Amino acid sequence: MTSLGARAEFPALEQKINGHSLVYLDSAATALKPKAVIEAISHFYAYEAANVHRGAHALGDSATEKFEDVRASVARLIQAKDATEIVFTKGTTESINLVVQSWGRRFLRAGDVVILTEMEHHANIVPWQNLADEIGFHIRWIPVTDAGELDLQAYQNQLDEKVKMVSLTFASNSLGTVNEVEKFISAAKSMGAKTLIDAAQVMTIRNVDVQKLNCDFLAFSAHKLYGPFGVGVLYGRGEILSEMPPYQCGGAMIAEVTKEKTTFLLPPQLFEAGTPNISGVIAFGHAIQFIRDISAEKISKHEQELTARLLEKLKEFSFVRVIGDSPSRVNIVSFVVDRVHPSDIGQLLNQQGVAVRTGHHCTQPLMKRFGVTGTVRVSLGVYNNEGDIEELIRALKKAWEILV
Ligand code: PLP
Repeated sequence: MTSLGARAEFPALEQKINGHSLVYLDSAATALKPKAVIEAISHFYAYEAANVHRGAHALGDSATEKFEDVRASVARLIQAKDATEIVFTKGTTESINLVVQSWGRRFLRAGDVVILTEMEHHANIVPWQNLADEIGFHIRWIPVTDAGELDLQAYQNQLDEKVKMVSLTFASNSLGTVNEVEKFISAAKSMGAKTLIDAAQVMTIRNVDVQKLNCDFLAFSAHKLYGPFGVGVLYGRGEILSEMPPYQCGGAMIAEVTKEKTTFLLPPQLFEAGTPNISGVIAFGHAIQFIRDISAEKISKHEQELTARLLEKLKEFSFVRVIGDSPSRVNIVSFVVDRVHPSDIGQLLNQQGVAVRTGHHCTQPLMKRFGVTGTVRVSLGVYNNEGDIEELIRALKKAWEILV
């Protein structure tokens, strides 16, 4: 089994939790931060703290240059045609809200249809529902099969000329299923609908190419990519961003303000009102470099191997039921334990130093689809190894013995 030799880069792993070495299995909620990212933030605050896009002095110029370099680096990461197609937000949630509030308000009308899937994170459901209540468009849902995959045929049957947007996740944050988003995008395109891809769970392990995907929007968060909190990305196809009105208004996005009226800058500045998370964006650049240095392919291989081992081990427990068995999956496995509430399992694992997530994972419609209120979710990162899987299995066995 591959080892990425990355553990030493993560100070969080040096600590004990409840007397045990930390076994961190919650990377889908947020990835631990490598030294390079932590140091970039503290270095910026110590020596470089200045606002961006305001000129006039050396520190401001340097901060602006570094900030814009990261925009270019993100554009390269996802193969965007141009860095102006990259908008910095505070996370996937804000990126989706930006599309809903700006594109949605301008282009959606009563009677139109937006297609979502049963496996969406609430961040890709609630903003659409809220606007639908106001405007009167309808939401159609792509169903999820027993295997935890999207039903492509059912989706194709739902496509008609009323559909204006198809917004779906690249990978399920609850089940780990990776969707064949290319097929969903091309079918939407053939009906003239726009597409938004929630890429929050795939960025560490996939080489995402927005031009090949041919999506209109793509959203993700830096903190799931070994980067800082409070930084996200919205990719928007240039022609579409240029037709969208501002999402928030204020400084840094205007060309001229008079008492009578305001003229605006072009995207991406149009969508970045106010002072952004400058240290966060700069540190995000270091996170991207960290992933590049290891390589997405190696990370993917490592996490696939560990996930396969985890699934194999869980199968040995008759009291465990894994939810979703798609062969196409990311580093996430969800399961339920006979007669035991997921949060009780989570607590007993935590007492043994093992950090997992329990609950509905912000996907309540998906939980309902599988007839459960929540699951235990294990998600892996570059720092995990076979020993972590063994610790989990040992701790799970102990939890079961205590509880039943
Ligand atoms: N979409 C998916 C698939 C996610 O997994 C998450 C976070 O768990 C989000 C959206 C929301 O991301 P954030 O909280 O960083 O905005």
